[in-house]
Amino acid sequence: MMKSIPAIIITLCFGILISGCNTSDQVSSTPASSSNTPLAAPATENASAETVTPAEPLATPSPGPENPALPLSRYALSAELDYDTHVVKVDEQISYINTSDSELDELLLLIEPNSYPNGFTLGALTWENGEPISNYSLSDRELLIHLSENLLPGNAIAIIITFQLNLPNQNAPYGYTDRQTNMGDWYPYVPPYIPEEGWLVREDAFLGEHLAYDMAEFEVEIQLANSFAANGGELVLAASSIPEIDGNIYRYHHTPARNFVWTVSHLYLEQETQEGEVLVKGYSFPYHPQADGPALEETAKALTIFNELFGPYPHKALTVVEADFLDGMEYDGLIFLSHAFYDYYTGDPQSNLTIIAAHEVAHQWWYGLVGNDQALEPWLDESLATFSEIYFYETAYPDLTDWWWENRIYFHNPQGWVDSTIYEAAGFYPYRDAVYLRGVMFLGELRDLMGEEAFLEFLRAYLEQFRYRQASGDGFFNLLSEHTSADLSGMIGTYFSRR
Ligand SMILES: [Zn+2]
Repeated sequence: MMKSIPAIIITLCFGILISGCNTSDQVSSTPASSSNTPLAAPATENASAETVTPAEPLATPSPGPENPALPLSRYALSAELDYDTHVVKVDEQISYINTSDSELDELLLLIEPNSYPNGFTLGALTWENGEPISNYSLSDRELLIHLSENLLPGNAIAIIITFQLNLPNQNAPYGYTDRQTNMGDWYPYVPPYIPEEGWLVREDAFLGEHLAYDMAEFEVEIQLANSFAANGGELVLAASSIPEIDGNIYRYHHTPARNFVWTVSHLYLEQETQEGEVLVKGYSFPYHPQADGPALEETAKALTIFNELFGPYPHKALTVVEADFLDGMEYDGLIFLSHAFYDYYTGDPQSNLTIIAAHEVAHQWWYGLVGNDQALEPWLDESLATFSEIYFYETAYPDLTDWWWENRIYFHNPQGWVDSTIYEAAGFYPYRDAVYLRGVMFLGELRDLMGEEAFLEFLRAYLEQFRYRQASGDGFFNLLSEHTSADLSGMIGTYFSRR
């Protein structure tokens, strides 16, 4: 997410990230309305409850967009949205593969919607063979399933969960407003498991992001209860990938990906452009036609620039959506840009629309392809996404590079430690200054010290080493030491408090 806009939107409300009160749901018998998506599940036909079986044999691990080195867990989701009542009924099957080196005696599902009062109602929870799962607990955002038999490394287990979501009314990536319904982080998912540490789960904070994701495969089927909103507007659906449409059912296949997000509005205007092998889709509200084309074009431009600089974008589509909330927000395959960027678009590339489009597209590499602990080491994705903006300007608008440094960085006279967590900052601006802006200053100094060629080589090596995985600060610096013999201790001491 990018939250650092000077001048125009200085009153950005980071309160949009505040979650509702936490609840602990009781099991109810609310069934989901749609049937479960059939799966080629990894367990055998006569598997008893909790039987675990080896995952499919791995493909030759030659990392690449279509061939992740790690086997992927699979999420099959079937959702029906009632746009007017803000209720979503979901059937989900998770085929989880233990890619860690540890035996697991429990399986954790993170359920972000359960942090809202009455936001999540569990219907049924069963093993793949339909046998109910009884040994579990649900508290706050965590549904913990205790396994009677350990899940060995490389083995798979499948569960089925049905639930209903009552969406919160909020201007945010998850929830509904008068203008749109956003479905970010809307389904239970298994967080990364870090050997000797456990599940990578962090508390929500008043700023920043706190989730981490494994790469996974998503099969998603979405049905709109009605094709039109109650006010008569035709509903338009945008998502992380391009659907196959069968009547009023939209089917998506999104892989390898960190997550799957979708959004619906009765107002969206839709446009698209083909950028190499990638179809870039744009969705916006009908209030500022002068901004719609540029939002799409700058997104496509950034995609091409980063593709050539860092390495290939892994999907066939990228979607940019006007958000009915302040700020931008990244998801895998889809980025949100605030309506304010469109409303105040001045027609030139010094606009926030251009800056933040580049920023959020860069997250497809630094967040999407390379994952990280967004709560404890947010600099890993945010400083690199912000630094990528300078590559965008150097390539697309070279006359504006000095302007970018001055406006984006020096104007704020940033202070603070680059490796601050989302819990340590005294507020939004101190957080942004430390993590995003001083992060950029660090990377800029590093680039100057190493030289452009070696620096870019390092970034590409970082992408290669952590593609589809979780990066870490240790991993970043260990790899860096292989790419430069310069003494970095002074520079690191200037910017980092934990090194
Ligand atoms: Zn960001």
